[in-house]
Amino acid sequence: MKIDTTSWLELMEFLLNNEEEHPVAPHLSATDVDQVLDIKIDDEPIDQQDLLNGLKEIISHTPKTATSKFFNQLFGGRNSEAVLGDLLAIALNNSMYTYKVAGPMVSIEHEVLQQVCQLVGYKDDSFGTIAPGGSMCNLMACIMARDAKIHNVVTEGITQKMTLYTSEDSHYSITKNAAIIGVGINQIRKVNTDSFGRLIPSHLIELINLDISMGCIPFFINLTAGTTVLGAFDPIKEVCEIANKFNIWVHVDGAYCGGVLWSKKYRHLVEGIELSDSFSVNAHKMLGTPLTCSILVTPHKKQLYNSFDTKADYLYQTDTDDFNLGKVSLQCGRRNDALKLWTIWKARGHKGMETMVNRLFELSKFAYDYVNQNSDYTVYSYQPSLSVCFNYKNINTEYLCNALYLNSHAMVGYGSYNNDTFIRMIIVNSNLQKKDIVSFFSVIEHFE
Ligand SMILES: *Cc1c(COP(=O)(O)O)cnc(C)c1O
Repeated sequence: MKIDTTSWLELMEFLLNNEEEHPVAPHLSATDVDQVLDIKIDDEPIDQQDLLNGLKEIISHTPKTATSKFFNQLFGGRNSEAVLGDLLAIALNNSMYTYKVAGPMVSIEHEVLQQVCQLVGYKDDSFGTIAPGGSMCNLMACIMARDAKIHNVVTEGITQKMTLYTSEDSHYSITKNAAIIGVGINQIRKVNTDSFGRLIPSHLIELINLDISMGCIPFFINLTAGTTVLGAFDPIKEVCEIANKFNIWVHVDGAYCGGVLWSKKYRHLVEGIELSDSFSVNAHKMLGTPLTCSILVTPHKKQLYNSFDTKADYLYQTDTDDFNLGKVSLQCGRRNDALKLWTIWKARGHKGMETMVNRLFELSKFAYDYVNQNSDYTVYSYQPSLSVCFNYKNINTEYLCNALYLNSHAMVGYGSYNNDTFIRMIIVNSNLQKKDIVSFFSVIEHFE
């Protein structure tokens, strides 16, 4: 049985209507899914109508991330230009490794990478790639740093203790990556953070000096632009100056809030970013594209090739390296993730992207002011940040988040900092209205 293409539109329309009617999907417990939905695959085919009806049931019970009730994760919302780009990427189904197979899509990825390099302030020899997620970008940065520090590590493997530095509030992928690249988790140094969640440079220096005195080789410092819990920004300029003295690679993990680069008004939050050795950003977080669209750029184009270019005569048969993007990727076959960002960026221009970013900060300030001015709330986050962290009266945080979810009121998560646990409301959907934010708070206030 072949599904006719008009059914694509039918299902899309169903989805849009369904999420409007039920902005939070009815809760279905993980252990009940198989009883409620027809998930099991059988020997016999089923007819098209049964399949479509089954899919509609599944859509109805799937969490809705594009609606005004979703504050749960560092992504959310839906922008039609970016969705169009992504739908085309699926239908065209190119693979980004060669010009022969991706054609003009290579130029689209070039343009996106070049524009991001320009926003960062990297000079002529900069380049980058698009990876399946921010964790992968961090992994690639870590590999480049390792290979840049010890040139024969690629052939000989790691023979000395190499140490890496990241704040205690950084993303867990750094830990995972240290294990993956053979450096080992014990060689991670967790740098203390201040009360705002920012890495403390003097502690970093202390740790580096201690490691050097013990014969270790410091090779990588990870900084975060938008930490996962508080949305804090590490001091990039100061740390780059320190790193320069010790010849250590600095990566800026901007997965969450690297999008500030698109705004003249908020760029100062990543001051000094042009001094870094690599930078990554998830366009599927602040910039509102569908998952995933993760960009990694570096001013050291040569290092990108040194670490990731492997010979493959059966693949690279036409055009020069610059057009065969597989040469700088961890992957072989690779999805066209550039097109969705390019489509929305092209449609809105730099100005429209800046408006989007500024809007997010405006909305999060609105939410922050709301809780900060109401004595029933306790506030735990700081401005400017897209994470607004708070508790309401003395209602247990975990209980409240789960109750909102189980009763299909709203999707929001909780986080902890120091010894406090609080609701973490994330504002990354630029299509939200202030009334949506007020309505979220009023659900909490009327909750029994
Ligand atoms: C989301 C996030 C990541 C991971 O990105 P994925 O695309 O989910 O792999 C890494 N670092 C930070 C700071 C993040 O917010």
